[in-house]
Amino acid sequence: MKKEITALSILTILSALLVPITCVICKVDKIPSEVIYLPTSLYTFGQYANLIVTAILVTFVFGLFSLLFYFEKLKKIYFIFLYLLNIFIIIVEIFCLSKFGLAISPPMTSIMADTNNFLEVKGFFQTYFDLSAILIITGTLLISWLIWHYSQKIYDFVENNKKIFIGIFIALVALSLYGTHKIGGLTCSPPIMKTIYCAKYWLKVKGNLAKLSSDKTNRVEITKNNADTPFAIFVIGESEARHFMGMYNTKYDSTPLCNRLIDSGNMFAFTDTISMKSSTAQVMTPLLSFMDNTTETTDLTKFDPIVDVFTKAGYQAFWISNHEKITKDLSYATYMSTRCNYSTFTAKISGNTEFTSYLCLKDEVMLPHLDNYIKNQVPQKDKNLFCFQIMGSHIRYPDRYPDSFRHFKASDIKEDGFKDNQKELLASYLNTIYYTDYILNEIINRFKDQEAFLVYVSDHGEEMWQAGFQGHGPTNVSKYMVEIPLLIWVSDKYKEKNPQIVEQIKEAINKPFMTDNLVHVILDLAKIETKQYDATKSVVNEKFIPRERVVVDGLKYEALRK
Ligand SMILES: [Zn+2]
Repeated sequence: MKKEITALSILTILSALLVPITCVICKVDKIPSEVIYLPTSLYTFGQYANLIVTAILVTFVFGLFSLLFYFEKLKKIYFIFLYLLNIFIIIVEIFCLSKFGLAISPPMTSIMADTNNFLEVKGFFQTYFDLSAILIITGTLLISWLIWHYSQKIYDFVENNKKIFIGIFIALVALSLYGTHKIGGLTCSPPIMKTIYCAKYWLKVKGNLAKLSSDKTNRVEITKNNADTPFAIFVIGESEARHFMGMYNTKYDSTPLCNRLIDSGNMFAFTDTISMKSSTAQVMTPLLSFMDNTTETTDLTKFDPIVDVFTKAGYQAFWISNHEKITKDLSYATYMSTRCNYSTFTAKISGNTEFTSYLCLKDEVMLPHLDNYIKNQVPQKDKNLFCFQIMGSHIRYPDRYPDSFRHFKASDIKEDGFKDNQKELLASYLNTIYYTDYILNEIINRFKDQEAFLVYVSDHGEEMWQAGFQGHGPTNVSKYMVEIPLLIWVSDKYKEKNPQIVEQIKEAINKPFMTDNLVHVILDLAKIETKQYDATKSVVNEKFIPRERVVVDGLKYEALRK
């Protein structure tokens, strides 16, 4: 039995090193930290000891199970099964890491769990099964066979040098407590542990969403309903920072089409609006419901969802998303889609976009779905709400726009002290903005002759090294991660009918606003009031009262912007 236990321990320890090793060999540049941290945060020990403690735990726990079997032979079969299962999971992890930079993580498990279509799986393997895949499989099998084959010898060696190994173990624990938390910049965890953790996590998320979605009651209490605008449109952007948009910064002409709308007096660009947080995960619920930054409770059922307000007010609601379905981060968005009469997710994947975003499509794939709805469903009702969630400027910028939108080049970048690769990345970031400008206009063009309004807001911003960092995240927030565009577009017919509202919008564009209260603005534009609506929270309302804007952990925006 010692042989099997030894082999399993060694394989578990080695497999924990998979992520850093594969990343180095396959030149995977950036693994989002959450992928690695989530599973390892389970353990209290530092990372070096972590691998060993986990290996012992795995072996011990699984070993205990094997005691259930009385017969030695059955035990052996059990261990061989565990060993093979480990090998399989290891191959899956190396494969996904090298092909997509995707480690075993909650999003990855949800993709797999949701991919129940045999053709999808078959197509996937046909696409990615190549020489490197064969190398990964044979390499893993060979190493695993060597470990199994020599495990008795290794066991004997450890047994004969017990003191040394105990010494090494204690030293590693001490070292890890001293503060060494990463190996090669990445933390480590055995794939089998991550798989167990992720499966548990996925079941929990699915359960929560099912619980939230099972209640179909619309609790909105309308107090005033003057809604008569046939088309209300709400577009949620992604990672778009105000600083690089042509309408806010004349350095780069990245929003020519929207600029034209601003010039014609149909679009209004708010200059002092910030997002309430700096990651998609944190913004969706406040953006889509009456929850705001001051809210203490986490009971989501307390806040009326925006879609429920509109359906109660006589609208039929549409959800068109180029994000993925069901994730931890976006489950509120997915939930919101279930409250709509019609919903389309163009990305044929589910999981978490932070990690699967490169499997998503260009935003224009949403337009045919919109056309289809306009042609077939819109005539059914006189009032329609369209909600969009676009991929916009999501990380992996070059994947966001078609080649024909490669408008900016590195040579166009005017930032001081930028290296070539930084210029390259900023140019492609600008191209995502240039492309979003086009997408917004494509949507607007479909409604410009109707009575309609559109609200566009980015979920959060993005820093491009202005404060030394590139990207965005829930922590280490900079002002660039929260300073976002808020655009309100109104059609000529809407302007004619609602001159007073348009006047209010014009007056509001420079007022300090935070998007956790956006729902009140949208209700003002639609002329609906509900029990949870509060005019003092709507920047386009004459009763608006500016509030202190607290972004993250008590961090005040006014301090951040200095
Ligand atoms: Zn985002």
